Order: sequence, then C-alpha cells, then structure tokens
Amino acid sequence: METLLGHDRTISSALFEEAKKIFPGGVNSPVRAFKSVLGPPIFIKKGDGCHIWDEDDHQYIDFCCSWGPLILGHNNAHIRESIYAAVAEGTSFGAPTRLEIELGRLIVDNHRYIEKLRFVSSGTEAVMSALRLARGATGKSKVIKFEGCYHGHVDSLLVKAGSGLVTFGESTSAGIPEAFAKETIVLPLNDREKLEETLEQEGHNIACIIVEPIPANNGLLLQDPSFLECLRIKAYKHNVLLIFDEVISGFRVGFEGAAGYYGIKPDILTFGKIIGGGMPVGAYGASAELMGHIAPDGPVYQAGTLSGNPVAMAAGYAALKQLLAPGFYETLNAKTAGFVKALQDFADAKGYPVSFPSVGSIFWVAFARERIIAAEQIDPASMNHFKIMHLELLKRGIYMGPSGYEVGFVSSAHIDADLAQAVEAFKEALDIVFS
Ligand SMILES: *Cc1c(COP(=O)(O)O)cnc(C)c1O
Repeated sequence: METLLGHDRTISSALFEEAKKIFPGGVNSPVRAFKSVLGPPIFIKKGDGCHIWDEDDHQYIDFCCSWGPLILGHNNAHIRESIYAAVAEGTSFGAPTRLEIELGRLIVDNHRYIEKLRFVSSGTEAVMSALRLARGATGKSKVIKFEGCYHGHVDSLLVKAGSGLVTFGESTSAGIPEAFAKETIVLPLNDREKLEETLEQEGHNIACIIVEPIPANNGLLLQDPSFLECLRIKAYKHNVLLIFDEVISGFRVGFEGAAGYYGIKPDILTFGKIIGGGMPVGAYGASAELMGHIAPDGPVYQAGTLSGNPVAMAAGYAALKQLLAPGFYETLNAKTAGFVKALQDFADAKGYPVSFPSVGSIFWVAFARERIIAAEQIDPASMNHFKIMHLELLKRGIYMGPSGYEVGFVSSAHIDADLAQAVEAFKEALDIVFS
C-alpha cells in the first residue's frame, strides 16, 4: 500500500500501527490521522528552518508550521537557546516568575488594545476563559458565533447552525449537552441583517459575539473589514462584548494581529499558537477594567497549574522579540504575496479553477475561482482535488497540513529559493490534479 502511493512510508506506517494501539485513531489530535488525504500519516522526526524530515528520511518544505505557531520556522536558534537557559533553572514552580512579566510586558507595551492579560496553556483554554469573562462581566449567558469559525474544542462552541428562526446551535460533537449548545447562536458570516435581527431579539441575553477576525480554520474566509466594523458598532449598540479570537491571526498578520491590521478594537482578545514560540501557551487580554473581573481581583474564577510556565514564557519571549524587529512583517508578507502570485499566475495561465487567497503570511488553496467568504460556499467535492495535490506535493518534498480546509503558513525561515522550489512542485502537482 505504501509503495502504491509512490511515496515510501514503511517506517511511518509501522509507527502508525503502534500508535493505534495506544491512542484513539493513533493520534493526539484528530486531523493528524490523515483521514482526509491519502495514505497513513507521516511521522516527523525533526525540523530545522523551513524544513522537516520524516521517519522514512524524506525532507520537506513545511507549510503547516505546526498549524501556525512557527512563524520563525523550526528550531530557531534564539528560541532554542532561551529554552535551554530556562530549563537549566528548573521547569515549573507554580509560583510567579520574572519571565512571565517579561513576556507580558512585551505584549502590553506593543499592543494598543491590551492593558492586562492572563496566560493559559492553549488556545482552547484562552477562548473558554474569555467566554467566562464575558459572561461574568455582563451577567448575560448567550454567545453569538459564526458558521465557519473555529474556536478550539470548547463545549458551547462546537456547534453549528440549527434550524428555526433565531438559530440556536446544534452540537457538532457527541458529549455536549443540548443545553450548552442552546447557549450559542450560530450566524452566517457577513450577514448584517441576521446579526441585527438577532441582537434586537436576543441582545438582552447575549454576553458576547466571538469571531475569528481572519477566519482561517475552514478555508480562509477573508471578510470585508466593513463586516468587522459592523460587529464592533452593533456590539456597542446592544451592550454586548466583542471577542476577537486571534489564536491564528495574533502576531501573524502583524504584531497586533487582525485587530491592529484592521484598526478595530475588540473588548477581549484570545491568543495561542505563535505566542508560545512553539511551546504550549495561550492568553486572553482586555482592558484593565474588564480584566478586573478575573480572580483574585474579581469573581470570575480561572486558574492553571502550569500557566505562565517559565520554559514556555522564555520561548514566547524569544519569539515575539524577533517579531518586533523593524521590517519583520513587511518582509514576510511581501514574500508570501510573491509566492501566492506566482501560483495564481500559473493557475490562471493554465485555466485551472483554483485560487490562492492570502493575508499576511497565511494562504489557502481554494479549488474554486470565485472569492469564498462563507463556509457554505466551499464545495465538499473540491476536496478530492486537494487529496491528489497533497500526495503529489509530498512526493515532491512539500508538506501541507493534511486537510483541504486548512490554511498554509509561510515563515521567516522560508527563503526565496525555497519558495521558488515550492512553486515548481505546486505547478507539477496541479498539472496532475487537472490532467
Ligand atoms: C487553533 C485555534 C484554537 C484552539 O487552540 P488550541 O491551542 O488548539 O487549543 C482556537 N481558536 C482559533 C482561531 C484557532 O486557530
């Protein structure tokens, strides 16, 4: 089977068989199981710069970058040395450390919309805590989320639109009580009328609107900034808090994430991924007044044994410090724009129905010509094209996340020669997809 693919996965396959005996589906996070692409998952043994190597000794240019955290590429020397230095002093104390202040200060001083923050250990935890803060601060319980936005595996947010006039959510996972899903109202992106109607009817029960300002977990559903502005205005009008879930976009499209990129002030921001420099860190931040609701200052309880972990803080600080270097984002974003343009020019010249929406250093391969801004526009059948492309790219030394609904990331470690090599591989893969 491994050789039928034309891509040798002998060792990865054997490891996968072992892993299946220990973990559900052989993995510790579902998408890693390669269910949406061809063949068994490849097991990674190391990474350096923009490259990763699998257990069967293939080398790839990596556009998954650990699903976003590695904006500086793998094994960044400065992050590595900072981690070593922190580890040498001990790995966890469950007590305050100087390192938390350093990372926290760096963020507060360089992000216009954050006065105070709290560190947690994942994006999911950040979102969960932000919802509790919104509910605690407003005394209201319902939440508006948007179809096509992902906010981690928080119970009340693993929901899709149900039927009915005001669409209360239906859970998308077993194990979530209907009562939790009912606390969430799911709306389509970019539908201002539905939003206004819902707020008119239910605003007195709604604590917050949560949105990925750059929805990047269900394709890349780039919104008009005017829609985000509309969320801001309507949230003020109806006394509802606005949460920007910036777990992907934070520190990615600029140091101030999407909020800074669009110049829109959310009430609460959530972070993960890049903030930990490759270690498990999340955070949520807001005005000092709102954060005053959090324990021990206020009545909203939230805690974590490993929160602000010194090794993770050292990694995050070493990463974010590099992002503040003058021109960092300009260079990275321009490089990505050039890469995406080369791909689009090729597809257009060949007349292939594929487009490459992008923002900052995030890009998506959409097997459609029209601009896609809402989840329901994505044709599930187009994922067959992705499947073929994914395998052909692996054969040519290019690693993309194993699902056509996932975006790709360019890091500062991808140099022009790597991107040029990747463009050639994409061209060959697309020729096969459309042959
Ligand atoms: C990845 C992601 C999360 C979840 O973060 P985890 O660290 O995987 O728990 C939440 N929201 C968004 C927008 C994300 O991209």
